[in-house]
Amino acid sequence: MPEAVTPEEILGKVLGLTRAHNKWRLLETINLIASENVMSPLALKAYMSDFMHRYAEGKPFKRYYQGTRYIDELEVLTAEILSPMLSTDLIELRPISGTIANAAVFRVLAEPGDSAVIAPVQAGAHVSHTKFGTLGALGIKHVEMPYDAENMNVDVDGAIKLIEEVKPKFAVLGGSVYLFPHPVREIADAIHSIGGKLVYDAAHVLGLIVGGAWRNPLEHGADAMTASTHKTFPGPQGGLIAFTDKNLYKKVSKTIFPWFLSNHHLHRIPALAVTALEMRQYGEKYARDIVSNARKLAESLAAEGFRVLGENLGYTRSHQVLVDVRRQGGGARVAKLLEDANIIVNKNLLPWDPPEAVKDPSGIRIGVQEVTRWGMGPSEMEEIARLMADLLIRGADISHVKQRVIELRKEFTRVHYALEGNVETILDLVS
Ligand SMILES: *Cc1c(COP(=O)(O)O)cnc(C)c1O
Repeated sequence: MPEAVTPEEILGKVLGLTRAHNKWRLLETINLIASENVMSPLALKAYMSDFMHRYAEGKPFKRYYQGTRYIDELEVLTAEILSPMLSTDLIELRPISGTIANAAVFRVLAEPGDSAVIAPVQAGAHVSHTKFGTLGALGIKHVEMPYDAENMNVDVDGAIKLIEEVKPKFAVLGGSVYLFPHPVREIADAIHSIGGKLVYDAAHVLGLIVGGAWRNPLEHGADAMTASTHKTFPGPQGGLIAFTDKNLYKKVSKTIFPWFLSNHHLHRIPALAVTALEMRQYGEKYARDIVSNARKLAESLAAEGFRVLGENLGYTRSHQVLVDVRRQGGGARVAKLLEDANIIVNKNLLPWDPPEAVKDPSGIRIGVQEVTRWGMGPSEMEEIARLMADLLIRGADISHVKQRVIELRKEFTRVHYALEGNVETILDLVS
């Protein structure tokens, strides 16, 4: 017989699990997942509003619903704040995620049966760019650019030749696992010469772009830039699209509702505006600190004896570091061991891994955007590398490393690069 469980006990469990998660991930772990971040307390406060209960189908001031006068103004204002940071006033804030942003742009640029040429998976293309993801779901054929292993990047000459042969409707650059900027200008020229468009997926690097530490693809020939608003850009989970091509903007704006969403999760918008203001004020320093922390962590890991990718290219120019951990037992084992010691990373395919290796790939992917936001700097990067080496190279006790991780996190409980509002701290969430 199963134990009798009262509704109160179930409720206690639900709230208990949520509290336990908050305490673990906000206060006790070093989070090195490259696609995550934390909002400031002020942005969190703006996030928790009645907007989360409401609908506003259509565009600002042209809605299909009543009751939208404040979200209309907010949506326009938020785009206005972002506009100089993105070098365009053609901005769509309604995509509720980066994947939806990609879907909306891809679907407008191509019909089922058409082709798209995408960056090689080894150079970081996201699953949504491939036949296994959104592109495939839309019936668009995925043709991959060749890979230049020496530069860990797109093989530019090969890609240009391929574009001239295939004559795709569009090309996609940008990715999820990349250390070095993709060749935007060269691919833009090639795709434009055959009448196609260039989409740049800045999901990971939006925060670096608005902070000036990564080239803005819209200034180098991209027609549209899709993004997530919660990776290096430390806002609420969501997406956006910025355009230089006005026609494309109009078509996507007309179809995103009703093709890809009805509710655009309105409570994201004021939190996005607060985060954009924070990035306007502190984004340049934040982006610079992220990139220098990433490089410092890569150098420290290499000095500890890890095999860090990209050594002859300076390791990284993004927020990411890639480590080949085959000698430490492979990506799956290493990611699990690190988790047991409260260091959170994800296992990742490295350029030489076949797709089947996805369950136990050669590497781990590390991102430093969140620890940077918690205020960590070069000496903490050295300490993180030391903790990882203690655990994975020198065979230290898991519980001992975990205790040191918890101690280290105690000094970093305030979100940096944030506007100070008269709000409670993030710690109140976990009490
Ligand atoms: C994370 C990511 C996405 C998907 O973003 P979501 O907001 O999670 O839907 C799309 N493209 C790239 C390159 C990504 O890294």
